[in-house]
Amino acid sequence: MLEFSLWFIVFYVWHVLGVTVGYHRLLAHRSFRCPKIIEYFFVLGGYLAFESSPIWWATLHRAHHRYTDSEKDPHSPRFGNARAYMGWIFGAKYPDYLDPKLQAPDLINDPFYRLLERNNNWHTSHLTNTFIGFGARLIVWMLFGWKIALASVLAGLLVQQVPFLVNVVCHKPKLGYRNFRGGDDSVNVWWLVFITMGDNWHNNHHAYPGCARAGFKWYELDISYLTVKTLNLLGLATHLNERYSMEAVAVPVEEVAPLA
Ligand SMILES: [Zn+2]
Ligand SMILES: [Zn+2]
Repeated sequence: MLEFSLWFIVFYVWHVLGVTVGYHRLLAHRSFRCPKIIEYFFVLGGYLAFESSPIWWATLHRAHHRYTDSEKDPHSPRFGNARAYMGWIFGAKYPDYLDPKLQAPDLINDPFYRLLERNNNWHTSHLTNTFIGFGARLIVWMLFGWKIALASVLAGLLVQQVPFLVNVVCHKPKLGYRNFRGGDDSVNVWWLVFITMGDNWHNNHHAYPGCARAGFKWYELDISYLTVKTLNLLGLATHLNERYSMEAVAVPVEEVAPLA
């Protein structure tokens, strides 16, 4: 049991940082730069957590920031919790106002990501990811035994839920607090800190989406940012965007405009 638990923790950390550092802060927001080998290390962690095509993920996430909590937001809980949690991923294709060629040209240039995108067909992209995700664990099972394979697949399936959780819980004003005023519902939710490794400081992130850091106050622990910062100190990440200001747009919570 101890061996299984340790492997589970190792895989959970790799997969969750694959999502928060790889898919989110690096691919979707370009908040730092790193060598391709480092990029692929994190993106593989996210892909094996069933996050589907990186082009698809980045296109939809950039749309989430552009159209936050409006009808064009791919997953605002204002229009239903089930759809915001997971329902939205079952669409077949991009809506008319979203074109990966326009939203994610930087990722389309990468032949590896183009291959995983499966001709902009959402179903095929998700199925390819499911096939590779379970196939990889089958190989792990044959090479290293069932304990490691099971720890890996369970960690991957759990981490798949992390961005879904953030998309719903961190857009429920009653479940968190805000440091910044804005037209959207985003909030910081402290109790998700270890599950999401820092992506739970979601109101901060919506105020400064391009910033590699999401925890701004001393008590807002941001393990994903600390990971990027460590890579930076090791010379494996450069051009970190660390620009934010608490003073410029911070307002007391009671002054926050009523929600639509
Ligand atoms: Zn959001
Ligand atoms: Zn984001």
